[in-house]
Amino acid sequence: MEYYDRILEFNRKWASDMVADDPSYFERHAKGQSPHTLFIGCSDSRVQTNTLTGTEQGEMFVHRNIANQVYSSDLNVLAALEYAVYVLDVKHIIVCGHYGCGGITAASAAEAAHGVVDHWLAQIRTIMRLHQEELDAITEPERRLDRLAELNVIEQVYNLSCTPVIREAWERGRRPIIHGVVYDIRTGLLKELATRLDGPDKVKAILPSTVAIPSF
Ligand SMILES: [Zn+2]
Repeated sequence: MEYYDRILEFNRKWASDMVADDPSYFERHAKGQSPHTLFIGCSDSRVQTNTLTGTEQGEMFVHRNIANQVYSSDLNVLAALEYAVYVLDVKHIIVCGHYGCGGITAASAAEAAHGVVDHWLAQIRTIMRLHQEELDAITEPERRLDRLAELNVIEQVYNLSCTPVIREAWERGRRPIIHGVVYDIRTGLLKELATRLDGPDKVKAILPSTVAIPSF
């Protein structure tokens, strides 16, 4: 059976099973959503938001792109962020990177040969330059890429905290609370890199002291 046919067959059985188990399940969902978390992650097929976090449909508002980037010029992530914070009023935002990320590997390749993706990943090369000393000291290639994936998460958390949406939200009160994690595809575990950030003071604390920090 083709993958696509299998998807349709599964869907019919799943919808039927859900109604059998909880007759008003889809009725409730049709009325609207009130997710508690905005999840910003990589598009990688091995990073399945609900599966690895044990959340159900309706709990996570999700934005994904290659290497979980938060660009201040990316209308897609900014629109998702604005909607999640202003309309859905999410309590948490999770920025999730992962080890074994193809985007991280491509960005760190010696030669740019991936087309548009090379433009998209430009920020990762800047992160490499900012942390060159630390990265160069890691002799094992896989471990060096792991660390770059971690530094990328921290940088995206920082970028997120600099957006007008978050700065305004934090001026009104200390939410949403931002978390930065990396998913280990080798073990299935999430590792916390930046936890429970609810104001600019907390963000400064997670940034390496060697990096110049613009004032908030
Ligand atoms: Zn990835």
